[in-house]
Amino acid sequence: MKLENKFPGKDISQEDIKTKFPLVAKKNKNHKSQFKISGVEFGSKLVPIFAGPNMIESEKLIMNCAKNLKKAGAHFLRGGAFKPLTFPYRSEKYTETREEGIKWLKKAKHEFGIPVITEIMEEKYLDLICDTADILQIGSRNMQNFPLLTECAKSGKPIMLKRHYGASLRDWLGAAEYLMVEGNHKIILCERGVSVPHTHRSTSRFLLDLQVIPAAQEITHLPIVSDPSHATFWRNWVSPMTLASIAAGADGIMLEVHPDPENSAVDPLQPIDFKTFTNLIKKMNDVAKVLGKHVS
Ligand code: PEP
Ligand code: MN
Repeated sequence: MKLENKFPGKDISQEDIKTKFPLVAKKNKNHKSQFKISGVEFGSKLVPIFAGPNMIESEKLIMNCAKNLKKAGAHFLRGGAFKPLTFPYRSEKYTETREEGIKWLKKAKHEFGIPVITEIMEEKYLDLICDTADILQIGSRNMQNFPLLTECAKSGKPIMLKRHYGASLRDWLGAAEYLMVEGNHKIILCERGVSVPHTHRSTSRFLLDLQVIPAAQEITHLPIVSDPSHATFWRNWVSPMTLASIAAGADGIMLEVHPDPENSAVDPLQPIDFKTFTNLIKKMNDVAKVLGKHVS
């Protein structure tokens, strides 16, 4: 037995690549998945942008976001109607909009012609969410909810699998294999920050693992999206970490954008406003250009 191939924990061995996640692993050095979702190219020179509020708080909010974010250059509108909120208590403002939220998302999608991504937490809502979503988002907290992964994959919908904040690259790729083994090939991975002993201020729960972008790209052909909003939890750091993500080779960017960030029902410290988003798109294009890529 070759011990170097059996090292447990976070390292990925050659044996893992062959036997644990053969579908997720690259077949050769230049292997990169390329596919289109609702007309948007992944794994090519385009760096798709997912933007929108944390939660679909109201019809007015999601319509406003769809209109302005599409105009500014977002490729997908994001927003959750079913939310994995950390604590069970709800104020009126802080309440998931659930079925109604999905209905508003559908309206925004059709009225402004922008594809949408939204989170699924329970299999029982799969049909409802699939009817509206162009991409199913599996949140970090459900990364290893294997029965949910299997059912979502079987729906045939493209899926974004967010990395759990405590998961190794090996665990994350293992979860992605659960999706691919069902024959679903439109899988996107999303880095959204990890828990580490030292972050930079009390509001920082997570640290954006920029290094995992090239590390994952060494092993997998799947596109890697970066989400600096959830990672930084702090809007002033979102723009620099977005640009750093593009420089690190991210295949897409997810951003929380809200017309009135301070009054966002969920996580009001992290969304950026429309103006910041519009300026950031220009800067993202400048950085992407260095790598022969583009955002718009
Ligand atoms: C989200 O995208 O709104 C979200 C809840 O993200 P995460 O699962 O990464 O915390
Ligand atoms: Mn969120």
